[in-house]
Amino acid sequence: MTALTVEGLTVHYGGVRAVNELSFEVPPGDAVGVIGANGAGKTSTLKAIMGLIPRRVASLRLGDIDLTKVPARDMVRHGIGYVPEGRHVFAGLSVEKNLLLGAYSKPWKKETRETLDQVYALFPVLGEMRERLAGALSGGQQQMLAIGRALMCKPRVLLLDEPSMGLSPKLVEDILAVLRRLRSDGLSMLLVEQNAKLTFEATSHCLVVENGSAAMTGTSDKLRHDPRVRQIYLGL
Ligand code: ATP
Repeated sequence: MTALTVEGLTVHYGGVRAVNELSFEVPPGDAVGVIGANGAGKTSTLKAIMGLIPRRVASLRLGDIDLTKVPARDMVRHGIGYVPEGRHVFAGLSVEKNLLLGAYSKPWKKETRETLDQVYALFPVLGEMRERLAGALSGGQQQMLAIGRALMCKPRVLLLDEPSMGLSPKLVEDILAVLRRLRSDGLSMLLVEQNAKLTFEATSHCLVVENGSAAMTGTSDKLRHDPRVRQIYLGL
């Protein structure tokens, strides 16, 4: 059984078709990438999966749960974690309060404390800064916080929207290390990125999205050696 199944996903903004009949699967414990240029339809794809924007979809399943009619507010409770583009941490709240908000769908209990400790083990810097206001963190630390917050709901699948955006090459390496660690821990992930190099290194399969459609699909290894991908997305 796949972790996440998306069949025939389409998004329109008025007359603009931003996502056009996209279909893909995330196998359990695997990481799948969606790469594409600015405006290709990557963010719309994730927002549409989350139910945050109107969409048409033939089938949307998390394991054997049908998510087609599940409203956005219930997606997290069903096991989809979402790290939005631009992080959107709560700048005026402490690091720990931001993390605890990620567990809002779970009642306060011992398990939440354990999950918090797991997030601090994954991101020691967040543990050191737990009382610090999120707005005082660097961009890289805020990205770690956004990922940590999404992990607080113990997702079955994690959706990540451009986690490398605006980060220095060193911090992009740190994000890659985190994604690899999560993958080796068995978390299923869908990674949307403009940074093709990072995506190929973090995932096993990828879709290349152009004008809302899947222009190419394949293993990340195969795609990273494709002459067209190398030219357009890796600048080689
Ligand atoms: P980026 O890397 O810049 O985030 P993207 O691949 O995520 O780009 P989307 O943000 O999904 O692309 O946008 C896909 C298309 O839909 C683009 O043509 C964009 O201009 C259009 N679009 C996105 N949001 C809206 C909106 N709220 N209203 C109208 N058109 C939109």
